[in-house]
Amino acid sequence: MEKTQEDVMSKLTKQDYIKGILDGNTIVLSRAITLLESTKEEHYTLAQEILQQILPKTGNAKRIGITGVPGVGKSTIIEALGLKILEDKTNKIAVLAIDPSSQLSKGSILGDKTRMELLSANSNAYIRPTSAGNKLGGVSRKTHETLLLCEAAGFNHIIIETVGVGQSETAVNAMVDCFLLLLLPGAGDELQGIKRGIMEMADIIAVNKSIENEKVSTQANKARKEINTALHYFPSKEFSWITKVLNVDALKNYNIDKLQETIDNFFNHQNQKGYLNKRRNQQDVSRLEETINQTILQNFYENDMVKQELTKWKQEIVAGKTTSYQAAEKIILNLKSKG
Ligand code: GDP
Repeated sequence: MEKTQEDVMSKLTKQDYIKGILDGNTIVLSRAITLLESTKEEHYTLAQEILQQILPKTGNAKRIGITGVPGVGKSTIIEALGLKILEDKTNKIAVLAIDPSSQLSKGSILGDKTRMELLSANSNAYIRPTSAGNKLGGVSRKTHETLLLCEAAGFNHIIIETVGVGQSETAVNAMVDCFLLLLLPGAGDELQGIKRGIMEMADIIAVNKSIENEKVSTQANKARKEINTALHYFPSKEFSWITKVLNVDALKNYNIDKLQETIDNFFNHQNQKGYLNKRRNQQDVSRLEETINQTILQNFYENDMVKQELTKWKQEIVAGKTTSYQAAEKIILNLKSKG
């Protein structure tokens, strides 16, 4: 009987995976990412062993995060920018997309095949949605580990796209070198509506859909100026970079070269001063601390004794017999005394 592709792939050994990834074989890469996303214990272990082995080959990409509300033009920009970057034949781009809502909308972010059509057809591009689990921590871990696999596979530009509710931007910002925020020309009037934290995170802000009647619209120009003014009221950015704001139009291909140049300038600036490594080191350390925190919390709440104590004290609180603070102190004390 003829072997199906799946038969062959399911028989990949750890060494096959490692070699395939390092050879830049995207079929093997996809399989390895699927392992990462699997909930099976054996897949998890294998994926972790693979990661361990490929780790020395990671770190060589420009890690770029892109965010903005649905419809702002993220996929259109990624396609235009991606094609521009790929004009240099030595470049390879991986696009990873995090969609916190995909659980509900069944993968809306990249489900639609018309997104990034030209980029998907390019053999130097690889596009992969990250199916959002129910825990953001899980998604950000999978995305970060996927990023490492893509770097080992030779992708020297990794774009992580997110449409967010604030939380996912923070997760993406914690794993990229450069964070790009896309806004619409109307944004100037609605600056208060944009989460301050997201503006603060941005290294570059692009006002998309800026062209009207063959020129930058008055509204788009006004938006750029107002965003620039608003940025003055923010504390200066770490690593001495001043957030750049520019008008672009992904559909008309306006200023996409300028956007690429700005990204390059950002990386040159960060590299020259050694800031890029510092930023990555900081990210690694916070990831370590966060993972420990999450694990401790999870273990705590899964503990039977904790569960019993919580049930008991919740009832006391509801009955008005104690305050939440007193109950928390008692729970911790009781657990300590029970060892
Ligand atoms: P996303 O949801 O942020 O990924 O947005 P899309 O890239 O899917 O774009 C949403 C819509 O806006 C699509 O119909 C695009 O063709 C359109 N669009 C994207 N960029 C531009 C632009 O620069 N100018 C204009 N006029 N339309 C754009």
